[in-house]
Amino acid sequence: MQLRYLWALLVGLTESKSNSEFEFYPYRYFAAEGFLPGFNFPRLPVRAYIPTKDGGEFISRPRTVALREFAPSNIVYYEGSKFMVAKTKVPVSGIDSQYKRVSICFNCGYFHEGDFRDTCENCGARIKDDRYQNIAKLTRVLPMETAIARRRERITCDEEERLKYGYNVTTHFRYASRKQESATVQTAEGTPLLRLTCGATAKIWRINRGLKKNIDERGFKLDTKTGFWGDPRNEQATDSLHTEVNLMVDDTCNILVVEPLSVPAENREAFIATLQYTLETAIQAVYKLEADELDSERLGEDKYLLFWEAAEGGAGVLSQLLEKPEAFQKIAAAALDICHFKQPKESCVQACYECLLSYRNQFDHALIDRHLIKPLLDQLPVSTVVGNFEGKSCEERYQQLLQQTDPNSNFERVVLQEIYQRGYKLPDAAQELISEANCKPDFLYKTDAAIAIFCDGSVHDSPDKRRQDQIERDNLRYNAGYTVLTLRHDEDWGAKLSILASL
Ligand SMILES: [Zn+2]
Ligand SMILES: [Zn+2]
Repeated sequence: MQLRYLWALLVGLTESKSNSEFEFYPYRYFAAEGFLPGFNFPRLPVRAYIPTKDGGEFISRPRTVALREFAPSNIVYYEGSKFMVAKTKVPVSGIDSQYKRVSICFNCGYFHEGDFRDTCENCGARIKDDRYQNIAKLTRVLPMETAIARRRERITCDEEERLKYGYNVTTHFRYASRKQESATVQTAEGTPLLRLTCGATAKIWRINRGLKKNIDERGFKLDTKTGFWGDPRNEQATDSLHTEVNLMVDDTCNILVVEPLSVPAENREAFIATLQYTLETAIQAVYKLEADELDSERLGEDKYLLFWEAAEGGAGVLSQLLEKPEAFQKIAAAALDICHFKQPKESCVQACYECLLSYRNQFDHALIDRHLIKPLLDQLPVSTVVGNFEGKSCEERYQQLLQQTDPNSNFERVVLQEIYQRGYKLPDAAQELISEANCKPDFLYKTDAAIAIFCDGSVHDSPDKRRQDQIERDNLRYNAGYTVLTLRHDEDWGAKLSILASL
């Protein structure tokens, strides 16, 4: 409640439009100091300062949009005038202190910060530049700060030409520790089709590596003293002029990494691009998401697809794809329908705006061909999602846990059924002894978060039993470090269960 109050207060404060915001922006300040968790709070936008007759205005954009829109020398249109992004805000501690050193694995897209690494923590591959000569180990990666624009009446042909091809932006991710789960989508005969890895509250990063047109010049030039982005007129100042500066934004969200296990040798890029937009559109259709709530990217030189819930807080649909054995059957039905394989559409050759094409994927239009993925889609309607816990499906795990419950406690089974039906992650164990506390919680989550669930039926109502329960549960909490969730049969226990939604 207090946090919510704080939040409302801060959001209220940030709505004021005074110029003093530039010096002190409370919400940003608290976030920077680590008082606000990044997740389940509105993501901080990036702002640009636009000089106007009466002092100036701030405009803000979501971070991933700002990475391009407020990038060096981009043109911003505001109230009928043209402005060019000229500089970045220089923090009191200086630009040098802000640089991150990152190692990117181009085999899987994994992001590592800090000292350079030679191998990837996620897939074990050697860390090296990709086939487009994008650098894997970067020393000057600057988290995006407030941009400052200058009025520009005329844009030269040269500038326009450079901007036309846009920026070279790469996407990377990292799982939160103990927050990843994997499963395989397999055919009725057991042939694996897709490997799925889901990461809750994972982080994604996007790096703007400079203008695409400037192939011979990587990153941006930045005068670290003034914050001015490279401009031929400023380039005499050698000491403070840095080259190869990359801009970065990050985000926390639920992600799903999909690896197709049998990709045709020919047309690999077209196959994976088509699969990307088909799955994205089908997931949106099945889970009734808006187009901007789910985003995707191809990673690792066409080996993997990364999907992420772009909406604030996330709708939690990606993890559901791993929980239900028949999850991909529904996705396949929607995909076959979207790609006109149920109701043929003569006029659609490779793809059209009714099926897979959209304004957002226009750069990939030449690659998208619905026929390439038909053989895969045809296998999915009878597929099952097999969780990688001891090779058992979610349904099998549920049955196994049901059998492990105390035969005298019907309430335990009611609770388990509720967890299963809500699509929450199933417990890792039932009635397992925790020796540090000398007790057996009814259900345990061990891998994601240490949570012990007790389902107290009427036998727990007596004062003696209550005292004993209290001692055991305190031991579990303080000696074994578990979060204890006690559900009493005579209370609204269903509401308490919702803490499992984030697992
Ligand atoms: Zn890797
Ligand atoms: Zn079509």
